[in-house]
Amino acid sequence: MKKQTKGSLFVLSGPSGAGKGTLRKRMFRRISGIKFSISCTTREPRDGEREGIDYRFISAEDFLSRLEKDDFLEHADVHGHFYGTLRDDVLEVLDSGDDILLEIDVQGALQVRDKMPESVLLFVAPPSFEELEQRLRDRGTESEERLQIRLRNARWEMEKASLYDYVIINDDLERAANELERIIIEHRKNREALRNEVL
Ligand code: 5GP
Repeated sequence: MKKQTKGSLFVLSGPSGAGKGTLRKRMFRRISGIKFSISCTTREPRDGEREGIDYRFISAEDFLSRLEKDDFLEHADVHGHFYGTLRDDVLEVLDSGDDILLEIDVQGALQVRDKMPESVLLFVAPPSFEELEQRLRDRGTESEERLQIRLRNARWEMEKASLYDYVIINDDLERAANELERIIIEHRKNREALRNEVL
């Protein structure tokens, strides 16, 4: 059933290895009324990743043609691949009254904030840079060269954390997931209170 009020847009960023994906999946198991935005990417799927669930895996040609048509709410070149969020997908969810969560990099998050200043920006940080490097090495999905690119990018992203509305330190998965859930629930409460005041 269509709800009467629009949903909110949440952006979740943080360096690779900070645990955004795991946190997000935990949070989605606990609260309803929020959808995950499935990004387009030109990178190859990793083992276990599914088309249309984790990403839409598209060619660079397709990506550029969509970019030309202005289909993306935001887009970025991350670690040498293109990533982007389709605008219509986001607007459709928000219009239905559900919230939406975009798991995107800092460049994309700042574009979203420019276009939709009411969005809520959340940054997931690792407890330390050393811990992040260890997690990425343990994951073992990247060559040393690509790992170094991710680490350089991670440093740059961590410097941008202060631009976000909230910073969640992922020192303990359960604690960090609770914090993420609490922020979303609080935001919903404040939104309702504000709407009731206006009406
Ligand atoms: P991965 O290749 O590890 O899945 O993602 C690499 C980075 O790209 C992550 O920081 C991820 O959040 C980001 N990313 C994923 N989808 C998008 C998107 O649609 N737009 C932007 N700007 N970044 C994205």
